[in-house]
Amino acid sequence: MTARLPLTPPTEGRLRLIGGVLIDGTGSAPIVDAEIEIDGDRIVWAGPRRGDGDADPDVVTVDLQGATVLPGFFDTHVHLALSLEADPRVVMAEFPSERVLGAATTIRQTLMAGITTARDLAGLDAGYRSAIAAGTILGPRLHLALQALSPTGGHTDFHLPNGTPVQPAAGPEISPIIDSDDDVRRTVRQLVRAEADVIKVCTTGGVSSPSDTPHDLGVPERHVRMIVEETARRQGQPVAAHAQGAEGIKEAIRGGVASIEHGYEIDDEGIDLMLERGTTLVPTLSSALRVPDPARVPGYLYEKKVRWSKIAREHVAKAIQAGVPVALGTDSGVCPHGRNLTELGHMVDLGLSPMAAIQAGTINAARLLRLEEHLGTIEAGKLADLVITDIDPLADIHGLADPVAIDAIVQGGRVVKDTQGRFPSLPAVTALG
Ligand SMILES: [Zn+2]
Repeated sequence: MTARLPLTPPTEGRLRLIGGVLIDGTGSAPIVDAEIEIDGDRIVWAGPRRGDGDADPDVVTVDLQGATVLPGFFDTHVHLALSLEADPRVVMAEFPSERVLGAATTIRQTLMAGITTARDLAGLDAGYRSAIAAGTILGPRLHLALQALSPTGGHTDFHLPNGTPVQPAAGPEISPIIDSDDDVRRTVRQLVRAEADVIKVCTTGGVSSPSDTPHDLGVPERHVRMIVEETARRQGQPVAAHAQGAEGIKEAIRGGVASIEHGYEIDDEGIDLMLERGTTLVPTLSSALRVPDPARVPGYLYEKKVRWSKIAREHVAKAIQAGVPVALGTDSGVCPHGRNLTELGHMVDLGLSPMAAIQAGTINAARLLRLEEHLGTIEAGKLADLVITDIDPLADIHGLADPVAIDAIVQGGRVVKDTQGRFPSLPAVTALG
């Protein structure tokens, strides 16, 4: 299939980055004194430095001595229109313009944290995807679920017990409910018509929802399978399951989803099923392990977070150590935005090597989004998405959590961040930085 790949406008001319340490995302050992050449939006060379070459006036050479170059990172689970910890009274008082501008700011912060591609798993409408692709605002290349599917009374059924619909803060509209076979088919077809890149389905309740728990079952395996069959009739859009309790996780895997989102209580049987089917785990540890300030969140949420962060720490560590494929996803929106690479450190704390964590954030995530032909590694032929940092990520993976540690970002050949002024001959940088 051809996955949707919005492209930022390519830069004119060629860029040659020399002298840095290259971690290319393939899992190979770092290359010291590397060279990366970019022509327009694509990489044309990535490897050891080829000597000083002729002084071609059309090539801008940038010295990256002392820095490390990594592939642009993915966050495969964000909610860029959501801020769960924001004061609901403030959110309710916002004008539509404030919501849009607030989301645009969040989107830009996410890019500046090193995320050049993000997957929004409900809440963000397709206009943001177009605006970024057109260069109207700066942000990660976006893949969108648009909405999340759950049954009546399930994780994303935003109705009060008395039947009153509740508009979730800054969300585009209330998610559709799927109870019958017809609901399933119609809803998936409508989402495909609306150009969703991924279908999000809730097979369990959740931590953040007030009226259910991760042990509640949501969309059944039979309906998950039907959703997968529907997308297979179209472009094979991946299906992502919000699944937290052990049984709902297994229903989702057996139903054929591409990824288990959260997976907090995954058991041995679930781990074996994932290994057998190559299902990807997106453990959203940035949210799972974060216990919020009890003064700022409702009592039910604080208690559930304490309980489920402990469960997630134990079970996700087992899955990681068993070798289940992992992709980086934070659930930002449930946790604060703009510190997405905190997730790398969490994954290393639970058993991944720093190199494997980098791959979870790059090539594994690119595969999950079916963009691995174009993104996920720094290799000739791929889009030039690069993150440049002064810290050594293999020695200090936690250091990447701070957006200040991300010195420069190239996205589709365009320099979108350059705090050290490494790209002096590109005047556009000042305006964009
Ligand atoms: Zn989420």
